[in-house]
Amino acid sequence: MSSEKKHLAIDFHVHVDERVKYQHIPSVLRSRGLDGAGLLAHNDFAFAKKVTEMFKAKDKEKIYLAGVEVDTADGHIIAYGINEEIPPNRPSEETIELISDLGGVSIIPHPFMSHNSVGWKAYTLKADAMEFYNGFAKIFLNFPNIMAKVAFKHNGFSEVGGSDAHHVHAIGTCYSIVEIDGEATEEKVLEALRNQKTQPRKKPIDQHDIANFFKIIFTPKEGRKVVRFFDYF
Ligand SMILES: [Zn+2]
Ligand SMILES: [Zn+2]
Repeated sequence: MSSEKKHLAIDFHVHVDERVKYQHIPSVLRSRGLDGAGLLAHNDFAFAKKVTEMFKAKDKEKIYLAGVEVDTADGHIIAYGINEEIPPNRPSEETIELISDLGGVSIIPHPFMSHNSVGWKAYTLKADAMEFYNGFAKIFLNFPNIMAKVAFKHNGFSEVGGSDAHHVHAIGTCYSIVEIDGEATEEKVLEALRNQKTQPRKKPIDQHDIANFFKIIFTPKEGRKVVRFFDYF
């Protein structure tokens, strides 16, 4: 049995929903040189799980993780390694505790992206990981990412990067290097997220980041009218 160390490139923040052309994800992973992706939907684990299972069945070469980006009372929290919906709008500490009780891994994404982020409260949260490079934050001269690093570098979070891609070609603009032993499995990736075996990476800003920015700001929140204006991206 080999226990050779391997480094995987994984984007832990890839959105899938009806407005994302997620069918292209396997080919984008290849063109971007990534080994896998964490697939998320806002408050809808079932949808992310459905898409993930579809890719897992068809594409055995890459790692696909199903997760959810849940709205808490304090801001977004990402969960992986769970197998059920995480109820939204609870206090962030309760949400993180629930994820842990379910055997999952919690990530604090983009801690300083204004209204949808936990901000300084992250000091008190026992999440497994924090996103130090977020693709959307790159648009703001990377400032929210720099603030996250300055504020939380020494708080024991595993450090990850994720593109926050709502636009399929933005996958991999930020990603993580994940250290594992031997054969790549989903469980080993989750273990790495628990044990600080991850490092964030980001690519220089490009047109995919800009397209993603517009896609995010023009994507309506649940319950609002759908704006289809930016579908051609
Ligand atoms: Zn978010
Ligand atoms: Zn997101």
